Amino acid sequence: MPKKIYIKTYGCQMNVYDSDRMQDLMNSVGYETSEEVEGSDMVIINTCHIREKASEKLFSDLGRIRPFKEKMKEAGKQMIVAVAGCVAQAEGQEIFRRSNVVDIIVGPESYQTLPDLVGKVLREKTKQINLDFVPDNKFDILPSSNAGVGASAFITVQEGCDKFCTFCVVPYTRGAEYSRDINKILDEVKALIDKDVKEIYLLGQNVNAYHGFDENKNPANLAKLIEKIAEFPQIQRIRYTTSHPRDMDDSLIEAHRDIEKLMPFLHLPVQAGSNSVLKAMNRKHTRQDYFKIIEKLRKAKPDMGLSSDFIVGFPGESDADFEDTLDLVKQIGFAQCYSFKYSPRQGTPSADSIHQVAEEVKERRLAVLQKLLTEQQIDFNKKFENQIMPVLFEKEAPKSRKNSSKNPIDSDKIQLWGKSPWLQSVVVEVDNQEIANNFFNKISNVEVVKARPSSLFGTISNLK
Ligand code: SAM
Ligand code: SF4
Repeated sequence: MPKKIYIKTYGCQMNVYDSDRMQDLMNSVGYETSEEVEGSDMVIINTCHIREKASEKLFSDLGRIRPFKEKMKEAGKQMIVAVAGCVAQAEGQEIFRRSNVVDIIVGPESYQTLPDLVGKVLREKTKQINLDFVPDNKFDILPSSNAGVGASAFITVQEGCDKFCTFCVVPYTRGAEYSRDINKILDEVKALIDKDVKEIYLLGQNVNAYHGFDENKNPANLAKLIEKIAEFPQIQRIRYTTSHPRDMDDSLIEAHRDIEKLMPFLHLPVQAGSNSVLKAMNRKHTRQDYFKIIEKLRKAKPDMGLSSDFIVGFPGESDADFEDTLDLVKQIGFAQCYSFKYSPRQGTPSADSIHQVAEEVKERRLAVLQKLLTEQQIDFNKKFENQIMPVLFEKEAPKSRKNSSKNPIDSDKIQLWGKSPWLQSVVVEVDNQEIANNFFNKISNVEVVKARPSSLFGTISNLK
């Protein structure tokens, strides 16, 4: 009987990518992917340290896993439990101290050693921990992508961060900035083309700080990397995330103008609209810098859709500072955004500030900001009603969406789910599975019938 592995993932796309790679790695040593903890020989929890109560969530997950691990033991089998990701990196040995369910602790830069660590747990009956930072070695060892491959695939091209925003744990959990060489990334693109991937999503904590080398050992930035990937005729769409305003250089803005395959959508976190808050955050850019970048981008690519991250209630944020954030949002006009209440992360400079903002103030500001951002998102989506747009179809729409009372396409037909150039979810219906199969992994023109806050409904325009 092949062994089974179950992986639970928290957090960002980079964690999703890491989980897929851990799955590939364990598949390559004989573990089959399982959808449930029960009966699995190995369980990995890939954690995220960004959000509040990250470690509490981990320990409640571990509590839920315990009875299944005990049941396996009663049946004479062993369930190996591994904690991976940024909480593993930040908390280390403390996790063993708080939960004896855990056998392995492995960091985001050392998970390539998982098969070895599993071997040691089984042979030596000892707990294992590896929190080394060796990103180059990690990418060399990992097998080529298999997990989670569809029309669109992620490739991590850059890891870590040297920017040390005063609220953020990433520089501590993911280490210093590191970029992979272009050739290795292009090899990964070729492997994905063989699996019929059409869209490449380049990932990095600071992806636009990418500074790899090309085949001639010349320095190459993200614009150069995108240009190289765009040369593959099979690749039809390219995206990248997450960017920092400080690294939004002219070559990347020009790439948006010149490379048609580069999608007209950018996630460019600003965090706050007040210069004094930005300074206290150590963002090293002002609101004026942000306006300037957006102006250049819109000049280069007028239909650019914009997204951002916001933190409200950063220590010392006054009502006037918060008004500056609202003003920035109104001036820019975003397509979709993420917004969070500031949450102190142990070990980061702002966690110790004596100017913490009261919880109810944070909640009130978050509600005001989210209302404005939702209105902008609806306005952005509404603009596409009765328009025709190219959609890359990936899969059938999730069942809940199909049967939802909010879904204006109400039928038993097959519903297809895809993405617009502006990263909106697009749902259309077709008569049967045979027709549906013709659309997967392809770009088709869709006429948008109805815009919802987080999705668009349409009809295939050439089927009319
Ligand atoms: N590197 C990206 C950048 O510079 O914008 C962001 C990376 S971070 C993983 C993702 C988002 O989480 C941040 O943009 C920020 O809005 C949010 N975040 C990080 N630390 C936070 C904290 N302590 N409290 C609230 N939100 C936080
Ligand atoms: Fe965190 Fe700032 Fe680095 Fe982004 S740039 S990962 S927010 S420290």
